Amino acid sequence: MNSNRNGFDSICFALSIAAVTLLVLSTVIDDELYRMIPVILAGGSLAYMIYRMLSTNIARRRYEADRFSSLFRSDPYRRFKCPKCGTVCRVPRGRGKIRITCPNCKEQFIKKT
Ligand SMILES: [Zn+2]
Repeated sequence: MNSNRNGFDSICFALSIAAVTLLVLSTVIDDELYRMIPVILAGGSLAYMIYRMLSTNIARRRYEADRFSSLFRSDPYRRFKCPKCGTVCRVPRGRGKIRITCPNCKEQFIKKT
């Protein structure tokens, strides 16, 4: 593969899984007309996968792949609503019981992270 191409990324991986799943699905559909739906979608997935692999706009494709991967990453923060003013306070996970000070109204409350 040429190095100025985007190549096979996380979205391509998901698209290839989707295409295989759709093709398997199409084999269990009896109706010939309805069977075309997953086949067309699989074709679309593969076409988009090839488009991504051959794309030379690597920065844009990498940005999309990062956004896509972030959907599956767990959030390292917990969010609590301030009991007084309702402002959402973001605190890191796994710190045990901590006293949270609302950045808006300075109200303090204790929560388990
Ligand atoms: Zn507050």
